[in-house]
Amino acid sequence: MAQIQKYIAIDEKIVPAAEAMVSVASSAVLYGLSVYSVIFGKYTKDGTLLFRIEDHLKRMQQSASMIGFDSVESLTDVVRVTKTLKELIEVNQLASNQFFRLAIHATDLVPGIRTRNLTLSLSIFLYDAQNILPQDSARIKTSLWRRTADTAIPARAKVNGAYVNSALAKQDALDSGFDDCLFLNQNGYVSELSAANIFMIKNGVLITPDTSSDILEGITRRSIIELAKERGLNVVERKVALTELYTADEVFACGTSAFVSPITEIDNRIIGAGTMGAITQSLRESLSAAQGDTHHPWVTTL
Ligand code: PMP
Repeated sequence: MAQIQKYIAIDEKIVPAAEAMVSVASSAVLYGLSVYSVIFGKYTKDGTLLFRIEDHLKRMQQSASMIGFDSVESLTDVVRVTKTLKELIEVNQLASNQFFRLAIHATDLVPGIRTRNLTLSLSIFLYDAQNILPQDSARIKTSLWRRTADTAIPARAKVNGAYVNSALAKQDALDSGFDDCLFLNQNGYVSELSAANIFMIKNGVLITPDTSSDILEGITRRSIIELAKERGLNVVERKVALTELYTADEVFACGTSAFVSPITEIDNRIIGAGTMGAITQSLRESLSAAQGDTHHPWVTTL
């Protein structure tokens, strides 16, 4: 497990990790009322290259708005957040790739349930950027637990409390000896993994569950779609049935913490050749190249 770095920012104030607290009586703890995002930062000797910070902040704003928080625009101001991230890199004396976890918590001590008129607080902590899946051959299991429907807890909103759904399914997969779970949605279509989106390649076409399949709209997913289109690949977003995955030529997961990770086995069925496919490998390389390119419009150098 990656270690959390020594210093954490709360509302732009940098404090030792042990002092970065929210109360047990806050709605953040009582009801999981926090929204979050994790941003990848690639360490180079010329600075840390942050990947798509503006898109992450926008998604946090949208998550906050979906669950009914008051406006979080002042907390997600890109200039102010970037300044805090730079300070955190300096104070933690970092020299490796990092994940930056930003969260907005409802911190008031309020016993009842509501989402408006609550004090909102932004925390940011850092930890070493280790892939949550095996790099070259992940084995996953279709979960008994279904993805929460948009009419229950929208997967589109990255809300801490919603991650109980991921925790149930991921632990069940781990208990059964797999690396991660595969969620189907309430309609029985493929949705996503516990914390990553899924793609398949079939007859040269790149296919991924559409945004009505109860997925988190991943920023890596969007990046892969854009990179694939740039390279002339045919990309289709649509409903996907489980057995389409079983019979795909290649399957991979993607996400900030999963990068591009080939899935070589689903429910004890070998996918394609059982090793990383050529298209998966080239998309992994394209993503990595973009993340390491100081001139790329997705990258901010800290
Ligand atoms: N789905 C879920 C449920 C996730 O938690 C994540 C990780 N944030 C993703 C997909 C991938 O999203 P992103 O590419 O924005 O990290």
